[in-house]
Amino acid sequence: MDPADRLTIRFWGVRGSLPAPGPSTVRYGGETTCLEVMVGGERVIVDCGSGARWLGLELMKQGALGADLLFTHSHMDHICGLPFFVPAYDPNYDIRLWAGHVASAGAHQDILERLMSPPIFPVPTAALKACRFRSFHAGESIDLPGGVRVDTVRLNHPGGATGYRFDHAGRRLCIITDHEHGDGDIDAAVAAFVAGADIMVYDAMYNAAEYPNRIGWGHSTWQEGLALAARAGVRRTAIFHHDPIRTDDDLDRLDGDVKAIDPRALVAHEGLVLDAAD
Ligand SMILES: [Zn+2]
Ligand SMILES: [Zn+2]
Repeated sequence: MDPADRLTIRFWGVRGSLPAPGPSTVRYGGETTCLEVMVGGERVIVDCGSGARWLGLELMKQGALGADLLFTHSHMDHICGLPFFVPAYDPNYDIRLWAGHVASAGAHQDILERLMSPPIFPVPTAALKACRFRSFHAGESIDLPGGVRVDTVRLNHPGGATGYRFDHAGRRLCIITDHEHGDGDIDAAVAAFVAGADIMVYDAMYNAAEYPNRIGWGHSTWQEGLALAARAGVRRTAIFHHDPIRTDDDLDRLDGDVKAIDPRALVAHEGLVLDAAD
């Protein structure tokens, strides 16, 4: 296929809440959320969790100078990689940091400044020479400087979160994290948003048995994810934002349970690359 027609996603971190390194998580990975979407030749990064450290090193190696970084929201597991994302400090790079759950670009920078200020971290956001802050309202479409249009949707999560949709060369890829099912209006909007997607990345931190004790925590279940996929005609669902408590063996079992219902669905692991055309 012509590279210009490709729509792919690479998972640099698949955990929710907290990094979970160790011998029981080596196969699925312990880094928190960071996704690299290639829309033709344009690079769009979604979230800057601890997995972004590796992506940053790779971008430095490639000398890939421009990227848009879309934040789903500002919880720790989605921003903690920014201070360690090396290209962000390099003035030769041009990285636009977008957020849809904030009032303004300045408010977005203020939030990240709280992470990047003493005594938590010694280097301020002013040192991020490559970065320019941008904001939008979740639900709007945004046009990225490289010519990529991204549709967005408001998700159900404490403090707000934004879902993203990429359409390219007849293919559709959606990222729905962090999100709790159960709000009728938001659920309907999300179902319409992901309709016909070739790939849907979905926050399935819990399972149906755990969920009753986690109501209001802002996350969904894999059973809800597969039900949504069936309703909305999603071709392939990637179960994502794994609870840090899950071991590789737990996730193997989950992958089996998921495939028993939907053979094309899968449990995402670090390093996985999916092509929307496959
Ligand atoms: Zn999260
Ligand atoms: Zn969150």
